[in-house]
Amino acid sequence: MIAPRAHIAALSPYPLAQLHPRAGKPLIPLAQNESLRPPSPAALQAAAQTLQTGHLYPDPDCTALRQALADLHSVAMESILCGAGSMELIAALAQTFAGPRRAVLAPAHAYPFFRTAAYLAGAPFETASEENGRVSVDALLAAAGPNTGLVFVANPGNPTGTLISRAELARLREGLPKTVLLVIDEAYGEFADHIDAPLFDLVARGDTVVLRSFSKAYGLAGFRVGWGVFPPKIAQDLRKVILPNNVTAASQAAAHGAVLDQAYMRQTCALTIALREDLRQRLRAVGFTVGESFTNFLLIDFQTEGHARSANETLLAEGIILRPQGGVGLHASLRVTVGEAKALDHVARVLSGWHKETPQ
Ligand SMILES: *Cc1c(COP(=O)(O)O)cnc(C)c1O
Repeated sequence: MIAPRAHIAALSPYPLAQLHPRAGKPLIPLAQNESLRPPSPAALQAAAQTLQTGHLYPDPDCTALRQALADLHSVAMESILCGAGSMELIAALAQTFAGPRRAVLAPAHAYPFFRTAAYLAGAPFETASEENGRVSVDALLAAAGPNTGLVFVANPGNPTGTLISRAELARLREGLPKTVLLVIDEAYGEFADHIDAPLFDLVARGDTVVLRSFSKAYGLAGFRVGWGVFPPKIAQDLRKVILPNNVTAASQAAAHGAVLDQAYMRQTCALTIALREDLRQRLRAVGFTVGESFTNFLLIDFQTEGHARSANETLLAEGIILRPQGGVGLHASLRVTVGEAKALDHVARVLSGWHKETPQ
């Protein structure tokens, strides 16, 4: 029998959202934190222009895109690396800096792909407890040991939606040994940029990476583009691991067009935040527990796992797909992406009805 390597055989396939439509109901997918509106027209136009040269390989260095990002964020272009989604960068970071004797550490309810990336690298995955759904720097520092190679923190967090301050992250960095690489995943950073400045300046220390994505605020999930700010030496090592020509020409062009249209992205964030706060208020008004969010989703906490399952069944019967969070230990929670107003209205109505009919 042909068997895969043991650490691959032990893995389950990465759990993606279950997007199966129910008979007769239009599908309302709110499970993947996609943007509530299509890409910027500037992004689409730029991508369309690349189709005629589809017989040519893309620019392996993503030069125009990296230059635009460097200009926008006032960082050196040499420190920027792009990936086919930030997931590619996360996987490459784990492959490069984690392994059997170099564990990956993350908060208890962290983005589940951190775990997958650790296991793909054959590395142990360890977690530190959180405090009221927020990353606890003290718990991370206490959990980091001599075998820790890599610490992943998503800020704002997914699925918690919570944010910790720049000062707290700087304290985490200060407290970790210099031999530990800290990766701060800011996939939702654009939704919180008005609260705290981005953390790109921490990268100059040489032991910290900050990741961003085009999948959320920029609305380019289908194009698969992520990027990050890296110490030059770490970027060089990662480039040995990442596949050459990883970001397609159309994707580079779309992302470049999107970066140049900041007004559109900012408007998406403002729209999203307004709808998010409206939904949160409506759900809280009928008795749901919905924590504060700094992202394009909300986390609804139910009394019990059974309540969450029952509510999810009711939503599924209406074609509404949310994301259960048992995979990260939040068995009584459902995550809802902030989609279009009409979809959220439907969610609020269905959940209110469920709440009325269900003993709490
Ligand atoms: C969505 C998400 C990503 C994945 O982003 P891609 O760029 O689409 O690969 C990474 N990190 C977190 C925390 C996310 O929620």
